[in-house]
Amino acid sequence: MTDMETTLGDAQSRLKTIYDDLDADEDVRQRLAQPRLSIRVSIPVRMDDGSLRVFQGWRVQYDDTRGPTKGGIRFHSDVDEDDVTALSFWMAIKCSVLGLPFGGAKGGVCVDPKQLSRLELERLSRGYIRAIHDIIGPDRDIPAPDVNTNPTVMGWMTDEYDQIARRQVPAVITGKPLGLGGSEGRVAATGRGALQVLNLWAERQGKTPQDMTVAVQGFGNAAYHFARLARQDGYRIVALSDSKGAILSRDGLDPDPIHEHKHATRELKGMVYCESSLCEESGVEHMSNEDLLALDVDVLVLAAMENQIDENNVDRVRADSLLEIANGPVTSAADARLEERGVTVLPDVLANAGGVVVSYFEWVQNRTGDYWSADEVEARLVERMDREATRCFDLAEDKRVSLRTAAYRQGLGRIAEAMAQRGTYR
Ligand code: GLU
Repeated sequence: MTDMETTLGDAQSRLKTIYDDLDADEDVRQRLAQPRLSIRVSIPVRMDDGSLRVFQGWRVQYDDTRGPTKGGIRFHSDVDEDDVTALSFWMAIKCSVLGLPFGGAKGGVCVDPKQLSRLELERLSRGYIRAIHDIIGPDRDIPAPDVNTNPTVMGWMTDEYDQIARRQVPAVITGKPLGLGGSEGRVAATGRGALQVLNLWAERQGKTPQDMTVAVQGFGNAAYHFARLARQDGYRIVALSDSKGAILSRDGLDPDPIHEHKHATRELKGMVYCESSLCEESGVEHMSNEDLLALDVDVLVLAAMENQIDENNVDRVRADSLLEIANGPVTSAADARLEERGVTVLPDVLANAGGVVVSYFEWVQNRTGDYWSADEVEARLVERMDREATRCFDLAEDKRVSLRTAAYRQGLGRIAEAMAQRGTYR
């Protein structure tokens, strides 16, 4: 495999021109070419039927120049080391773009969690923490939820860490349930932050939500909260999808009953609307995920997985702009093509950062023991997103570069500065 064929290689290929523009030191380029620490662990789990299964997992700490490393843990059958490494690199950029005092990390376990019972999932979650216990901590590396992990999983993980440490260490993991020191607003934070970035951008373009149509690829936690809140703000959500297919209604969809239906049945197919006569009345159509990506809408929201738009399908994209809620949903080649065509991309390292911003708030609350109301969390999230997004938008205008280039300049520039401040012999 060549470098460009790996997700990390693809992510890194965007850097050269940005380093050149920043006039970045050779030391910086070399140090950011690979992660500072990467471990692979095996996690033996006793299954309910008495058999033993050994799962593979990873934790990669990409860069810790600006602070302890930070990033989620994903449970997915496609996870591998390359993926986790690319995701940890994006976390380092993202935390820096938002001005958080963190570096970047990511964890992953190769598993389809839907195949496990609740107790098996708990044993796997605890086993993963036993395996990486030595390299995490509130001043070292702070995990959080990612694809297929949630507050319940974070609760088990925090408890396992506490048991080994023989004391309570809530600030070691964020995205915890409220009763274990979680923060108000964390669950909806990624969707809320993405909406804030979209609102700000729309305002700068002189557009109002009421005039904008939105199609959303993905219906996980971030996608659902984004769609729900965007509808409240007046955007028309014309399409939603999950891994099995998409639904379309030109009149607009209400994400709430659809979410309830998905929870009950685990799929959007045979949607609640379509099981009743409402289907024909409201004109809900079924379509493939590929066709959703080609819809003629104002905003195409990519909230599923990496590498969804690549060289093969980029020219089918007809949306005016893309909002990246997933990490790395557009390959670098597709990105270059979109830029050529004048399609705006609101990049992942800015657009999906609301989750880690509220994770940072959770970590602060755990360390100070002062817990904030939902309104206070929301106000601080909005303030942070507005401040850093405005900086990126201004930089992009000023330097006539894409929003992704501007965000990377902002993030890498701060990392490079902190490296220089730490001195030469680190
Ligand atoms: N998994 C989320 C992300 O990709 C959140 C990470 C965190 O809160 O540390 O940004």
